Amino acid sequence: MDLGLDGKTALVCAASKGLGRACAEALAREGVRVTITARTAADLERAAAEISAATGQAVTPAPGDIATEAGRAAALAACPEPDILVNNAGGPPAGDFREWGYGEWAAACNANMITPILLIKAVIDPMIGRRFGRILNVTSYAVKKPLPGLGLSNGARAGLTGFIAGLARETVKHNVTINNVLPGPFDTGRLRSNVAAMAERKAIPFDEEMQSRYDGNPSGRIGDPAEFGAMCAFLASVHAGYVTGQNIVIDGGEAMSTL
Ligand code: NAP
Repeated sequence: MDLGLDGKTALVCAASKGLGRACAEALAREGVRVTITARTAADLERAAAEISAATGQAVTPAPGDIATEAGRAAALAACPEPDILVNNAGGPPAGDFREWGYGEWAAACNANMITPILLIKAVIDPMIGRRFGRILNVTSYAVKKPLPGLGLSNGARAGLTGFIAGLARETVKHNVTINNVLPGPFDTGRLRSNVAAMAERKAIPFDEEMQSRYDGNPSGRIGDPAEFGAMCAFLASVHAGYVTGQNIVIDGGEAMSTL
C-alpha cells in the first residue's frame, strides 16, 4: 500500500532509540523527511546516520531535552511546520506514591502531558491551514490497564488522554487527526533495563525474567519496535484521515479489555 507520505515532513520526538526511532525509520521508508530529537547528541547523530543509510532519506538530528523550553525550541527550529508530529519522551520512574512530592509529579506531568500539548499547540494551526496533519502521542497500555507502581505514568498519561479526546474532535474536519498509540511490552533498551533490574531483585537470570514476560503475553512474545513503527506510519498516512481521538493498543492482547 502506498501510504501517500512521500515528500511530507515529520518531527519525531525522543527517537534515537526504541519506539521513537522505529517510528522515524518507518516514516523515512515512506519518503518522509524526518527530524528526530533526543538528549544525547552523539547517539542521536548516529541514529540519524543509520536511518538515513537504511532508507535513503535525509534525517535531521535536533538534540535537546524535549521536556524543556529550549529542547522544544530546538526541535521546532529544525522542523518548524511538520506534517506529522510524533510526541514521545521517556516514561516516569516506578515507585510508591507516598514517596512522590510536587517535584516528581511536576516532572511526570511536564514530560508526559504538558510537553506534547505545547508541541501540538505549536504545529496544529499550520496543519489546519494545509488541510493535512497527523499527530501521534506515544503513551502506554497502562492507560487502559493501569499498572501497580506506575502511578506517575498512569496519572500524567491519563491527563494527556483526556485532553486529546476533546481536541481531536475539533481538528478532524480539517484533515488533522490526533491519536494516542499505546505500546505494551516492546523489546527496547528501556524494557531490557527494567527486566535486568527485576532479574537482579529476584536473583534470577536475565533470560528467565525475560521468558516470564513472554509467558505473560497471549502472543507468547514481546513486540518488535518495527511493528510499532509500522502502525504509526499507517496512522500518519493519507488513508487514516477518518481515525481520530483513538487510543490504539499494540500489545499482543496483553491488556484484557473490551474497550
Ligand atoms: P527507550 O528505548 O529508552 O528510548 C527512549 C528514547 O527517548 C531515547 O532515544 C532517549 O534518548 C529519548 N528520550 C528520553 N527522554 C527524552 C527527553 N526528555 N527528551 C528527548 N529525548 C528523550 O524507550 P522506549 O521503550 O522506546 O519508550 C518510549 C516511551 O514508550 C516511553 O515513554 C515509555 O514509557 C513508553 N512505553 C514503552 C514500553 C516498552 O515496552 N518499551 C511499554 C509501554 C510504554 P536520550 O536518553 O538520549 O534522551
